[in-house]
Amino acid sequence: MLKIKKVEKPDFFNKWIKNNKGYSLELRKYLLAEEQWKVCCYCEKTVSESPESSHIDHIRPKDKFPDLIHDYDNLTVSCQTKKRCGHAKGNKFDENFIVPTEDSPGDYLTYSPNGEIRPVENNKRGRETIDILHLNAPKLRPLSPAHVVGPRRGPCLRRPCRGLNF
Ligand SMILES: [Zn+2]
Repeated sequence: MLKIKKVEKPDFFNKWIKNNKGYSLELRKYLLAEEQWKVCCYCEKTVSESPESSHIDHIRPKDKFPDLIHDYDNLTVSCQTKKRCGHAKGNKFDENFIVPTEDSPGDYLTYSPNGEIRPVENNKRGRETIDILHLNAPKLRPLSPAHVVGPRRGPCLRRPCRGLNF
């Protein structure tokens, strides 16, 4: 999971609020470029802004948090992989879910040498978040070891953000 530092909302954000279908491509492009190094915020798989590749994910789901539908800080970009990440999360959210814009995922999640994502010291928040997002899908494992997140594991090693500490 990516640690996301939100930047200033773009000028066209109010247009997205009024007509989000017309501006969602532009918003995904902005979020991916400015905040997410062009990867899914949950599985860190490289994605593009195209609707086949990614979608805007409300971290706190719309149905449970209607006041946050247009809250810029609640928006991230997730991959379109069925049964994983944003699609797996759906309306699931509670206080244990690791929030990439507020928490430091590296405090809760780590990778085994074979690329399996694991909860640090078997912590509950890590366990539940991995379950909700299906982050241990076998297809994901080969992608994971190269992208080490969080202060416990040092700087990120993935090429677009190599050397940056989160
Ligand atoms: Zn994903």
